Amino acid sequence: MKLDVVIPCFNEEGNLNLLFDSLTKHLDDIHYNLIFVNDGSSDKTFDVLKELYNKSPDKVKVINLSRNFGQDAATYAGLKHSTAEYVVSIDADMQHDPQYLSKMVRFLDENKEYDQISMVNKNRNKENAFIKFLKKSFYHIINKISDTKFVSGASDFRMYRRQVVEAIVSLEEKNRFSKGLSSWIGFNTYYMEYEVNERHSGKTKYPLMAQFKYAFEGIVNFSVKPIRAISKFGLFISFISFIYLVYIIIKSLILKISIATITTLIFVIILLGGVQLIAIGLIGEYLTRTFTETKKRPIYIIKDKLGLNDEIL
Ligand code: UDP
Ligand code: MG
Repeated sequence: MKLDVVIPCFNEEGNLNLLFDSLTKHLDDIHYNLIFVNDGSSDKTFDVLKELYNKSPDKVKVINLSRNFGQDAATYAGLKHSTAEYVVSIDADMQHDPQYLSKMVRFLDENKEYDQISMVNKNRNKENAFIKFLKKSFYHIINKISDTKFVSGASDFRMYRRQVVEAIVSLEEKNRFSKGLSSWIGFNTYYMEYEVNERHSGKTKYPLMAQFKYAFEGIVNFSVKPIRAISKFGLFISFISFIYLVYIIIKSLILKISIATITTLIFVIILLGGVQLIAIGLIGEYLTRTFTETKKRPIYIIKDKLGLNDEIL
């Protein structure tokens, strides 16, 4: 098989027939499979998928999840069931136009040095200024505090070589932030521009609040710096109050100037506050390590081997 197309679907009944027709039309000369993942839809998505399967059982595969697990989990289920040389993840709502697929396949065929293609939204200018500002701030912050690179405008429309799919599938963490994961694994990524269409039918699953949650998920999954900032702040506060203590001692004991009780009280409160923050930060350090461990990410991923025994990992 040349290409597996993974399509996460959550309440997309109005889009699937159109998407299927468009995929069939544009993949005419490619040996492909369509892997639809129904992510606990409450509409007729599964029924439409069953119809598509009956119509074209050799091309259509359907995975039906027991409930809504989220887009990243649904995509993961699709990737796990893929076997083709190239795998692409594409939205079900026609925003990712299937016309780009053959161009992507051709690109990977002709450019062996690239391992994955990430499609980058060309018409960001059409978004409203506030959303644009929020997204820009998110990318600025996350790139500052995370070692993983995040490219502004990179979408979930991505094509991978088999080896890259295996790497992504090997990351078995539960809180999946796929934008981060496909960057974290490394490999050579080509960023290809594309024009996003309007959603054909139905509503977006990511209103503003869901986008905030998604952004926060990205930050805490790909950086431990926020938790570290707590200890640093604690250290800073303790340092300031220590200086203040020295000042009070000199003033009262050496210069014999009397100090108001309230001043001392404030000092004690601030000092304790600082110590408490250090303690919380320290607990955070341990928690962070447990957090990272429970994710069970591999320590390294091998891309090539020269003159080595393939059986040794
Ligand atoms: N999706 C999913 N499970 C979810 C949310 C979304 O499988 O819990 C799918 C959805 O059906 C679509 C893709 O993920 O195929 C992207 O969702 P959407 O179009 O709502 O996101 P947007 O394009 O608005 O960012
Ligand atoms: Mg969409």
